[in-house]
Amino acid sequence: MKKQPIKFSDYPFIVPNEKQLVKKMEGFLAQIKECKTAPEALKVIKKINNYMEVIDTEGCVIYVLYTCYTDNEKYKKAQDKLDEMSPLLSKYGTEISKVLVNAPYRPELEKKLGTFLFKKYENSLKAFDEKVMPELIQENKLSSEYEVVMGGAQIEFRGGTYNLSQLGKFLQDKDRDTRKEAAKAMDKWLGENEAKIGKIYDDLVHLRTEIAHKLGYKSFTELGYIRMGRVDYNAKLVEGYRNQIAKEVVPVCNKLYKQQMKNLGIKKPQYYDYNLMFANGNPTPAGDREYLVNQAHKMYSELGPESKEFFEFMMKYELMDLDARKGKAPGGYQISFPLYNSPFIFANFNGTQHDVNVLTHEGGHAFQCYLSSAIKIPEYRQPTLESCEIHSMSMEFFAWPYMDGFFGKDAEKYKYSHLADSIEFLPYGATIDEFQHWVYENPDATHEQRCAKFHEIELKYTPHKKYDDTPTLAKGTWWLRQGHVFGSPFYYIDYTLAQVVAFQFAIENMKNHEKAWKKYIKLCKCGGKYPFLELLEKNHLRNPFIDGSIKKVIKPLEKVLKGFDTSKM
Ligand SMILES: [Zn+2]
Repeated sequence: MKKQPIKFSDYPFIVPNEKQLVKKMEGFLAQIKECKTAPEALKVIKKINNYMEVIDTEGCVIYVLYTCYTDNEKYKKAQDKLDEMSPLLSKYGTEISKVLVNAPYRPELEKKLGTFLFKKYENSLKAFDEKVMPELIQENKLSSEYEVVMGGAQIEFRGGTYNLSQLGKFLQDKDRDTRKEAAKAMDKWLGENEAKIGKIYDDLVHLRTEIAHKLGYKSFTELGYIRMGRVDYNAKLVEGYRNQIAKEVVPVCNKLYKQQMKNLGIKKPQYYDYNLMFANGNPTPAGDREYLVNQAHKMYSELGPESKEFFEFMMKYELMDLDARKGKAPGGYQISFPLYNSPFIFANFNGTQHDVNVLTHEGGHAFQCYLSSAIKIPEYRQPTLESCEIHSMSMEFFAWPYMDGFFGKDAEKYKYSHLADSIEFLPYGATIDEFQHWVYENPDATHEQRCAKFHEIELKYTPHKKYDDTPTLAKGTWWLRQGHVFGSPFYYIDYTLAQVVAFQFAIENMKNHEKAWKKYIKLCKCGGKYPFLELLEKNHLRNPFIDGSIKKVIKPLEKVLKGFDTSKM
């Protein structure tokens, strides 16, 4: 049963009890097995959903508290407990969907709940079997091992010690020597850890291939797509899509990079030079956290009544933890507490344009979550990941008219670099994706062969990148730093798919804001009711897989970019 929203600081802290959880779930499982008719099953499903809403909310509260205060023992213990319980929940989830998928009353239930829900059930059943449980545990372990190595990086640089993300700041420094030195320090660290990280990946690839074989698939690729919840497109379509990027986007990017280097006055650019968009530095926000939240309040209030209500809700119920502080986990995310219909935004503000991006990008995620919380069937609230990013990336563009407020004198700089970066992201995304397809089709390749292949793919999509000062990266090892390759295989292309759809909103918004915004609200309200391609069709958005669709979005954006005089920025 839904509860009235309350302030985050008033949320009860409850750690789910494993014994109770097992008892409850066993009970539900027995009940659902006994159902003879659809109405009977619907009653039990409702009870399960209500219970899961409570457990989910308790779990999310723990996760937020744990990441906000990683040095708090109580929260850490609670999070560990939760991690232990999560396979149990998947186990019961699987068993319950198995019963429903095979039930004689299924057609009647499908009429009530929609066929897509059953497709989702079937998909999750295809990805799991009790017999691969030990491998799945091992897979999680290896992924965490990777995170430990990356998170534990201690890199010496100019008398200080930095982790990878801290060093990133120097990689975009205005001073070329600083960038170069930082790039060399990073490369040295990568070289020292290459064997270790390469081995983790090798183990992961073999393990995943073994899981796929045990479940009856030829390679991991097919299983990877199933895990991503993709029901309406396949690797062949994605390949064609990548080819469109190579043909239509790469030449545009090469022109942009050329102009950028001309503006910076760099004759023989190296990869780290591209991190700096303008000679006088990248755009910086015009104020601190309080100032930016006020600007966001203004923006969401003016965009429309729904977004005004949403942002005031976020402020009133303390649903944003934005300041960086000691003991807080790095990064940023958006999560929600279903029991209170409340989204939550976690971030680490650092005084760069990233802070504005949190308020627009994560804000877009939270806004969709807020709008689709009214959807009754929980499985239909959140869409698959490529669809999720449409909401966030489109909001980044709806925010453009408000950049004067966020960035002051740097507003034009921000808009240009935001659009250029977004376009330039597509070839990189394709690189990561093409590499993974090759890896899982050639699981027995050596680390050296993988790197050689990666380098070959880099030349196809990002030929501007030169690694003369960085011998490790020159071997084709960039992918070792891309976490998705390790933890979430085949996920990465989703960002590019969403980007291509978000571009359509950007273009439409420049032509007719009212119309574009209305369309966006409708899309957000759809939540996860439809798979990716159907969602696009229902909302009159172009399907990125259809040949020519990338060209159609890139052309008008190129024109927008030409409207900026970067030599004066
Ligand atoms: Zn996102």
